[in-house]
Amino acid sequence: MNTTDNLYSYGIAYGSLPQGKHSFRFEVNDAFFRRFEGSEISEGRVSVRVEAEKADSFMALTFYMAGDVKVACDRCLDEFFAPVEFAGVLTVSFTGDAEEDDFSENEVMNMQPGDTEVDLAQYIYESICLSLPLQRLHPDDERGRSTCNKDMLAKLRELQQEAQRVKNENSPWSKLSKNGAATDKA
Ligand SMILES: [Zn+2]
Repeated sequence: MNTTDNLYSYGIAYGSLPQGKHSFRFEVNDAFFRRFEGSEISEGRVSVRVEAEKADSFMALTFYMAGDVKVACDRCLDEFFAPVEFAGVLTVSFTGDAEEDDFSENEVMNMQPGDTEVDLAQYIYESICLSLPLQRLHPDDERGRSTCNKDMLAKLRELQQEAQRVKNENSPWSKLSKNGAATDKA
């Protein structure tokens, strides 16, 4: 079994790879996330280990990823590092016509005959995004208190109250009750 450290690109040159088992390692860094336009992850470090098994017409890649990525907190909007962990299998078909069904639960990537290298950056990026929790919140500290940015929360509360006030003033109910008050006085 070969172990190949491949720190600067996120591809596997399978064309020259003998059949059988191989291991690869990739390190995801800030520059990686900057490659994806509109990425909600601005920074991060994620270690990616890939166990590859190459057969005649396809290659099964088992991914293990773990690290921390910077995202915005849903509550206070400040950025913080959230832990991510992911395990999954990607099947790379060399014949260009594989369906997801052919490999049960696995994700499938079809290469064209003549291709010799598969770029895994997109798959790695999407897997990291998928492994983020739906709700991203600053974790509580050891005493169970929120570690959110308190100044930011206070500002957000002010803005919310202001928005609510404007909404109430413009609502038809508020106009009705004002008219009602006027009628009562008359
Ligand atoms: Zn927060």
